[in-house]
Amino acid sequence: MDGQQAVIDRLRASFRSGISLPEQFRLGQLKALLTLVTDNEQQILEALQKDLAKPKFEAILSEVDMVINELSYTISHLKSWMAPEYVEKNLATKLDDCFVRREPLGVVLIIGAWNYPFQLILLPLIGTIAAGNCAIVKPSEISVTTGKLLADLIPKYLSQECYAVICGGIEETKKLLENRFDHIFYTGSQAVGRSVLQAAAVHLTPVTLELGGKCPCLMYGKLDIQAAAKRLVWAKFFNAGQSCVAPDYVLCNRQTCEALVPALRQALEAFYGQRPRECDDMGRIVSQKHCARLVSLLERSTGKVVIGGETDKEEKYIAPTVLVDVKETDALMEEEIFGPILPIISIDTLADAISFVNAREKPLALYVFSDESKVVHTVLEQTSSGGFCSNDGIVHMCLPGLPFGGVGNSGMGSYHGRWGFETFSHRRACMLRGWGLERVNVLRYPPYTESNLGW
Ligand code: NAD
Repeated sequence: MDGQQAVIDRLRASFRSGISLPEQFRLGQLKALLTLVTDNEQQILEALQKDLAKPKFEAILSEVDMVINELSYTISHLKSWMAPEYVEKNLATKLDDCFVRREPLGVVLIIGAWNYPFQLILLPLIGTIAAGNCAIVKPSEISVTTGKLLADLIPKYLSQECYAVICGGIEETKKLLENRFDHIFYTGSQAVGRSVLQAAAVHLTPVTLELGGKCPCLMYGKLDIQAAAKRLVWAKFFNAGQSCVAPDYVLCNRQTCEALVPALRQALEAFYGQRPRECDDMGRIVSQKHCARLVSLLERSTGKVVIGGETDKEEKYIAPTVLVDVKETDALMEEEIFGPILPIISIDTLADAISFVNAREKPLALYVFSDESKVVHTVLEQTSSGGFCSNDGIVHMCLPGLPFGGVGNSGMGSYHGRWGFETFSHRRACMLRGWGLERVNVLRYPPYTESNLGW
């Protein structure tokens, strides 16, 4: 029996024993996870610094605090989420108990990506534990230090009977995916998402896919351009642009573009100084290979660089870069950028900008910047995306009350807060019926006659 199989068998036996089911067990594990995070915050920040040169504030906000907030929210709501949900009854079921019972699915596989390597493993794990499942987590091999830290800490704090970490790259993940799981939760690229779905189809395993895509940012109508530039710069260059919900490109008319570029320059200088390369608040690209992809995109682009443009593959550095006069057919528009490069495409009217967005795959997030609520609501009503936020970027994903997930090519399913609990639960339809009113049942039993139809 190989290592992976032994782990899966151990977890499956634990799940069958019922150990992960009681509310007290779930709460105990969630609290232990909280202790894991608070006991080891320094080590976590160091690992994120090593993997991505993640600035301390960004690491705390988007990794450590996100996990802590999700844990606190889940711990305080678990009892109510677990309670049976009684449904409306009709005349035929008046005497029955009719309710939905949330039950765990079994053994869940969670596969994480490298850009937020800590929270992309722990947030789904929180939902999995809360719903009463056992789980294997597979961190990304690219963010190797954080992956190793998770592999070291999780067995020390959580039940080894119920939760395990398996590290490894593409081959190990493919092998893992040959096994039968009760749910697979995958975060990463669309291409790999397809193979995950294919592997899951063999066992009819339900899948959540948290994928990426190109998130547009539309700027139309009256606008506070200085505030817009600051919020856009923050959302775009946070984590050196390596966020699945980072604004990928801007659509605006020429007039807005002319005002926006100097405002972006000013915001960038205020945030990262004149030499962002020397600024600790500017992260790095995760690997030289990923950096080379971004350099190639810049080299192939026919857009005009108006801010930044400096690159250094050795140092995995790409300066915060803005390009204008970018055409629809530009290299930067071929794939998700996933780095600190912001193309601006000039489109005269809001209607044309909406058509531009709707001619492409549905994005994970869609942003609209405008003072005019008519503009905001027109975009909201005439487009589709996983999430939507006006006059800011990224922040909508920090609220546990909102589901986080894509639609169409940006993913399927969602999590965060109750949505994670629901994803990892089966909603069992329950009707508890007694023996009353048997005489009435004559109306539905054969032999059928015309009088049955009157029932
Ligand atoms: P990645 O390379 O870390 O891959 C993700 C996971 O898939 C890793 O654990 C990796 O080991 C595994 N993997 C890679 N190739 C595989 C294969 N052929 N077969 C099986 N498993 C394989 O991350 P990535 O894919 O570069 O991630 C970046 C993408 O993820 C971007 O598109 C980004 O938008 C998206 N993303 C989405 C979210 C979200 O929540 N929706 C969050 C973060 C990243």
